[in-house]
Amino acid sequence: MISLQSLIKKYDVPVPRYTSYPTVPYWDVQNFSTDQWLQAVKRTFDETNDEKGISLYLHLPFCESLCTYCACNTRITKNHKVEDSYSESIIAEWSQYKKVFGHTPVIRELHLGGGTPTFFSPENLKNLLKSLFSDTLIHHDREFSFEGHPNNTTEAHLKTLYNLGFRRVSYGVQDLDLKVQQAIHRIQPFENLERVTKQSREIGYTSVSFDLIYGLPYQTLQSVVNTVEKVISLRPDRIAFYSYAHVPWLKPGQRGYEDADLPADVLKRSLYETGRKLFLDAGYIDIGMDHFALPSDALAVAQREGNLHRNFMGYTTTQTELLIGLGVSAISDAKYAYAQNLKKVEEYSKEVNGDQFAVWKGHIQTEADRFMKRCILDIACKGVLNEKPFDRILNQQQLESLKGLKNDGLIEFSENGLILTETGRIFIRNICSVFDLRMQSQQQGSEKVFSKAI
Ligand code: SF4
Repeated sequence: MISLQSLIKKYDVPVPRYTSYPTVPYWDVQNFSTDQWLQAVKRTFDETNDEKGISLYLHLPFCESLCTYCACNTRITKNHKVEDSYSESIIAEWSQYKKVFGHTPVIRELHLGGGTPTFFSPENLKNLLKSLFSDTLIHHDREFSFEGHPNNTTEAHLKTLYNLGFRRVSYGVQDLDLKVQQAIHRIQPFENLERVTKQSREIGYTSVSFDLIYGLPYQTLQSVVNTVEKVISLRPDRIAFYSYAHVPWLKPGQRGYEDADLPADVLKRSLYETGRKLFLDAGYIDIGMDHFALPSDALAVAQREGNLHRNFMGYTTTQTELLIGLGVSAISDAKYAYAQNLKKVEEYSKEVNGDQFAVWKGHIQTEADRFMKRCILDIACKGVLNEKPFDRILNQQQLESLKGLKNDGLIEFSENGLILTETGRIFIRNICSVFDLRMQSQQQGSEKVFSKAI
């Protein structure tokens, strides 16, 4: 039996997180046009809006200061006047999509991400969302969530968004050790996290999530244990425990520390294993791909009932098939196609305010893409694949890779497909990658595209 350490060494290669398939770097951008994108939007809207509703993602990119580890599309500024003009751009873009829909959209899922959504004042968020909701219906079983920064989320933010239907909030914690916080330029006292968690619960939020990162500069086993223990003491409903993605060639802010300051591969994996064990011992369920939830949380319930779904926003309990991303760099998914908006605020705003779509690039799904996507989603969300005769559709290289995974004890073949073993759950991204035909066909260069799996 191959040891866990050997498996970690073997599978510590760059692989995507699979919030889409194909993943963005492997989109076929040459064979994409905005017209095709809008046709896919209209078709998916007509097929699914009335029954399932749609999802909306709003990218609010502004932050007052840069956290050096950050891999998001941000605009660093202390000038809060940008809130008004940016809100107008979002509303202009939404109006264009409403014209494409042709009738009233039913909003089922809404997520505010960034950047820092709580950079916006409560009043401006309220005005933006009220405008967004005009001429729409809100689904009776809605899922509204937002990302809050523990340092600047106020009681007024929480109350305002609660009154607009938000019940889930996710706080970026990352790490609670001062030395690590100094290195990543994100000083965030535990008291702030404690305060916003308490206030969220008192106001009535039913799900409070924390995002943590392992693999940050200066993290040690003991510092991660300390962080995780403090986090568990607040009993968040969900925890995302992400691997730090070191991509300084894409994010120069990450050059603020040396490679030597980062935990080496084996230590990094131990940080994850240590955190995971503490979460499981505290009663959390491993949802897959770095997510944990209390057994009573909707994610854990959906996993038990086989209803878990995954899209650009990560794991979700809703089964919508049209996700419209509004705002700079936002990504949309219309079942038959993907699209991403322009990445610079000025360019994005110029397009949408000139009544043009700000779509920058995209991908039209082929039949083969949709099949591989189903396989990857099943593995990521259910830990099983029931897609016989998938073995007749896969190529020789993929079949050999699956045999290798079986020999390493990561999967078992079943009557209708395959099932992940307990050890296999740790390598879920690697297992999904066997179905990633697009990446395999352009393998060269992947070293510089994704972070490592572990
Ligand atoms: S980590 Fe969050 S708060 Fe920090 S710069 Fe990135 S988006 Fe802004």
